[in-house]
Amino acid sequence: MKTTRRKFILTATSGGLGALAAFSGTTAQAAKPDGKQAGAVIIPERKVPVLAEADVLVCGGGTAGITAACSAARHGAKVVLIERWPCLGGMGTAALVNGWHRSDRTKVVINGLVEEAAERARKRGWIEQVRNFPKAFETHWFDPEGMKVVYQDMLDESSVRTFCYLVAGEPIIEGGRIRGVVVETKEGTRAILARIVIDATGDGDIAAKAGLPFDYGRASDNLVQGMTMMFRLSDVAPEIVKAHPQDADRVVGLMKKLRDEGKFPQFLEMAARHYLRSPQPPDVSYNMCPVAGNALKEEELTRLTAKARRQVHQYVELWRKEMPGFEDAKVVQTGFSLGIRESRRVRGLKTLDAQMVVKAVKQHDAIGHGVWMIDIHDPKGSGHTTWADQKPETMVPVGQSYHIPLGMCLNATMPNLAVVGRCAASTHEGHSSVRVQTHCMVMGQGVGTCAALALNADVDMAKLDIHKLQTQLRKDGVYLENVP
Ligand SMILES: Cc1cc2nc3c(=O)[nH]c(=O)nc-3n(C[C@H](O)[C@H](O)[C@H](O)COP(=O)(O)OP(=O)(O)OC[C@H]3O[C@@H](n4cnc5c(N)ncnc54)[C@H](O)[C@@H]3O)c2cc1C
Repeated sequence: MKTTRRKFILTATSGGLGALAAFSGTTAQAAKPDGKQAGAVIIPERKVPVLAEADVLVCGGGTAGITAACSAARHGAKVVLIERWPCLGGMGTAALVNGWHRSDRTKVVINGLVEEAAERARKRGWIEQVRNFPKAFETHWFDPEGMKVVYQDMLDESSVRTFCYLVAGEPIIEGGRIRGVVVETKEGTRAILARIVIDATGDGDIAAKAGLPFDYGRASDNLVQGMTMMFRLSDVAPEIVKAHPQDADRVVGLMKKLRDEGKFPQFLEMAARHYLRSPQPPDVSYNMCPVAGNALKEEELTRLTAKARRQVHQYVELWRKEMPGFEDAKVVQTGFSLGIRESRRVRGLKTLDAQMVVKAVKQHDAIGHGVWMIDIHDPKGSGHTTWADQKPETMVPVGQSYHIPLGMCLNATMPNLAVVGRCAASTHEGHSSVRVQTHCMVMGQGVGTCAALALNADVDMAKLDIHKLQTQLRKDGVYLENVP
């Protein structure tokens, strides 16, 4: 689908329902299944009521959007957050991605709202601290169901006005600045207006539609990282599984043989071996079912999601027959969404790259720390990941961490539009590290705080005194050390 940009004209800004935004003629071109244009329609100029007005509008309620909205609101901004799904947490909840990485393998270096969310979950029994911390990065496994409640509580208690079931549509642009977005409600088209918009859609939808340049995929062939359908099983017998490690090796060997003969789907070998040797509690999400394709094409995503769900059942059907302890195994849940790791990376004032990650580079505009390695899941969908190899050249050295710069979330084109989370400015390689949830939450907290302070100071975000922002972030519990 290719859509030419619409021109929106703001006719009233008085707030609340009844205020009107108008947009003028547009041409939309629909694509046929073969990718060719099916034609075009003219959408006539019309006025649309304003549904809500805010200081800060956050589009997308994943981990990055939640922390952006909470921190902006806690610093006095009137905040609206819109999320297309019926729950908050994005990939972390809806795609069952339930591991957090916060340590440099000697100490925790990601705190702030990450620690707050963990503490809230801890009190309700929804998070488990990994036993071999600090040797491992994985400091927490959480219950995605519980986190939906934690995130909603955080937003509600921060007085963020939250709309789920609402897709952020086209941006409203006036005089080189974004003024809000158009949404389709059950009652018709509406506008949501704001002084600052934060694109936390994961895919950079708003930034791309506003005309900001972006990168997609790796430099060599523009393919994005492989996607994964996470799933959970019940009725696996742990004692029987533990007693049959040789069978685990035999079954993985069989899966590989059948796969190589084209009779079995792709799978992440390291993970399959682990799950068949070490029985997982029912709340653990299995991360081993890969597919590859274009993360921005709805029809392709539909096909990939269906393919991945079929693959999950193919694994489990084989295990029920072949692996002792899995005879009664049942698939109790697959991700509500396919797990999407990478799509647009919106170009920013700074681009986080692999060297900044593995050399633990410090930045003067740091808003927090990152620890995760270069972790690229094969864009062709074999399931292989550089995480499995853990080569020294892909790792952040033990006891060190890199800085996440504010500049990767701001851009040179539109001063009141920021991006946070996995769509922020990075190379394909840099992205493979900074895309993890805790790092996205660091970005969210940094940019949300920046937005509120910038509005208070009546300056654009890029013009805010960085020391003032860093001082505030530290007061709010963010770990921020060695800033040059
Ligand atoms: C299979 C898999 C395994 C992973 N493993 C780990 C791991 O072990 N640990 C880890 O920390 N990270 C892991 N990650 C990465 C991590 O989960 C994501 O990169 C991270 O959650 C991204 O957060 P985000 O808020 O930027 O984006 P998302 O989580 O994608 O959130 C974006 C939100 O915006 C909403 N949205 C999108 N478009 C619109 C729109 N137009 N209007 C309104 N709402 C919109 C979406 O519904 C979603 O809720 C993994 C990812 C995958 C896919």
